[in-house]
Amino acid sequence: MNASEILTACCKDSLLLSTFALRHETEQNGISEAVIRNRFDRMLTVMETSAAEARQNPVRSVSGLTGGDAFLYEQYRSASLLGETVSLAVACALSCSEINASMGKIVACPTAGSCGIVPAAVLAVSSSKGLDREKQINALLCAGLVGQIIGEHACLAGAQGGCQAECGSASAMAAAAVVELLGGSPEQSFDAAAIAIKNSLGLVCDPVAGLVEIPCIKRNVGGVVNALSAADLALAGIHSRIPFDDTVDALNRVGRQLPTSLRETAMGGLATTAAGIQLAEQIKQ
Ligand code: SF4
Repeated sequence: MNASEILTACCKDSLLLSTFALRHETEQNGISEAVIRNRFDRMLTVMETSAAEARQNPVRSVSGLTGGDAFLYEQYRSASLLGETVSLAVACALSCSEINASMGKIVACPTAGSCGIVPAAVLAVSSSKGLDREKQINALLCAGLVGQIIGEHACLAGAQGGCQAECGSASAMAAAAVVELLGGSPEQSFDAAAIAIKNSLGLVCDPVAGLVEIPCIKRNVGGVVNALSAADLALAGIHSRIPFDDTVDALNRVGRQLPTSLRETAMGGLATTAAGIQLAEQIKQ
């Protein structure tokens, strides 16, 4: 299943991507639509909690390396350069990622390291536009469908394809979801997802001390801002000259070309900077 086939099916039967995703899931796994929606509803609740928790109270990571930034940013937010929607998304992305680093409960979407991007985009846009829970669940179904295509044709793990496969995929999922949330077409959702992938291509996985903290937490911020700008372009009617399926193919090839040192081994990139090495030493002691 690729985006091109899905767009043909959506066009033929005038389907939203979320409707296609729901039908596909029921056919593949023999689960009723009600059960699937209920599962997504529970995931949405976990997302809401993790997106709020570290904004309300400072949360430290288990290693002690990171934490407190979601709280700090929330205090500053009224002065933000980014406006209400984007600054809320930034705060939510920080919160989910800090909850993950503190071993709290998050929804891996598609992975724990990139867990802040989809919730931040969906929750911030829904909050600023006053959108209801049903629409948010549809947006998550749409995000899941995009993630499924990337997983089938490329990969979703930093160890396999670098951070482009984690934060890049999450950004594409979020971009498509926001387009659906705001009434865009399936074609616009895939345009947004393609733009988000194009802007993430080549992003390496280089976690300091091998922990999903530095640079992961802030990459979730970059991922959600990328997603929102990609969704905005698509909603304005701007197309991606490279179709989504081709961007996934590029992501797959670039991932395979990345050296092992830049695929979650902490043997390159930021992990081997002077500061990165010093932080890793600090934890050992
Ligand atoms: S840097 Fe690596 S571990 Fe961190 S979020 Fe990106 S892919 Fe995941």
